[in-house]
Amino acid sequence: AEIFGVNRSTVVAALEELESFGVLKGETGKGTTVISNTWSLLISSATPDWGKYLRSGIFKENMPTIQAINKMEFEKGIIRLGTGELSPELYPTEMMKDIYMKLSQTIPSLNYLEPLGLLELREVLCERLKEKGIECKPSNIVITSGSLQALQLISVCMLKQGSTVYCEAPSYIKSLQIFQSMGMRLLGVNMDCEGIQYWNMGTVRKSGEDALLYTIPSFHNPTGALMSEARRKDLFKFCSDNRLPIIEDDAYGDIWIDEEPPKPLKSMDENGMIIYLGTISKVLAPGLRIGWLVGSESVVERLSDVKMQTDYGASSVSQWMLREILLSAHYDQYLDEVRRVLKTRRDLMIGALEKCFSKLAVWEVPKGGFYIWLKFNQDIAMEKLFHLALKEGLLLNPGSIYDFKKNNALRLSYSYIKEQDIMASIEKLSRIVLLLAKD
Ligand code: PMP
Repeated sequence: AEIFGVNRSTVVAALEELESFGVLKGETGKGTTVISNTWSLLISSATPDWGKYLRSGIFKENMPTIQAINKMEFEKGIIRLGTGELSPELYPTEMMKDIYMKLSQTIPSLNYLEPLGLLELREVLCERLKEKGIECKPSNIVITSGSLQALQLISVCMLKQGSTVYCEAPSYIKSLQIFQSMGMRLLGVNMDCEGIQYWNMGTVRKSGEDALLYTIPSFHNPTGALMSEARRKDLFKFCSDNRLPIIEDDAYGDIWIDEEPPKPLKSMDENGMIIYLGTISKVLAPGLRIGWLVGSESVVERLSDVKMQTDYGASSVSQWMLREILLSAHYDQYLDEVRRVLKTRRDLMIGALEKCFSKLAVWEVPKGGFYIWLKFNQDIAMEKLFHLALKEGLLLNPGSIYDFKKNNALRLSYSYIKEQDIMASIEKLSRIVLLLAKD
């Protein structure tokens, strides 16, 4: 203490404190000994119990299968048979190079943007939406960081805990997880080849309950189903009569293969009962993380206010880029090319299924989007299938992810897989399924 110039009584107090923690032991005549283990005890008791914290948030953990998929997608050499994304070689490199060049010279500002998002982008979106029969003003649009964020905003500021969310059964897992984590009651409604059987909602709906419908009418995820025009009209009437608001998720509307889908539900909406969600993720680039929500001005104002509290706006660079993409003379050509490639891949996959699965499963031919919903003729041990396929280099999206009760389906995707891999992968898959079917 003298050497370091510390007061002797400070040292004695410190030693006494360490002794009280059991780190030191003082014995008269023997001096003070350090009890080494207790050091680590002291240090570990000072570390917070992160496990307890990590279990406390409102978001639940992903199912182990989803966690595995999220990681395995980035493994080299794996064939992604269920991925909901376009393959990288479809990326319009030349168009994007031009846009990068133009923006590097003329980008007006990289500052924060106004709460609804970049006005110049919302104006272009209005024009595009008009082509789908949706009449709106820039003040009806809020730009989001992907359409999943739009669902989060809706959940946190428009729905009370315990509200009912009707949805197709099965439905897109990530949307369902958002509603679930926010404490909503999910009620799956059966579908047929024309879309959701809305009349079944009537029998379960309690009068006066807080509720809404979440639907994916065009090239549904995961089934690929397309809601017919007649069903769209009837569903809209049913929801109007029951004052049931609708969230229409149109992530795949532009990815038609055979013919354009019927106009979105939103095109019938004169009273602002539909919130419409669009995104650039499926058509072009999920990495831009840009989506748009169209609704009545009061809804959009409220959601944009919460968006400002959440992240203060989506990336301004991405918003400028998306504006240029939508204005590019090459964008529509690019979309035609995507449709052409997807048609080839879909037809190859359907051909492979006809060859290998005709006795094992049934499916519908999707008219657009990315997915084929393969329903096995008997229950298959899905976990086993997932792991056996993984061992053989195939990454699958089991149906049980999208509907906990359905254990006999797979979401196949033809958007990511290379054409030359389709037949061999489906053959390999059929051999594994056959093995499990005999189990
Ligand atoms: N909705 C549906 C139906 C989807 O399939 C997806 C992507 N798989 C999304 C929303 C998410 O889109 P984003 O990347 O814009 O959040």
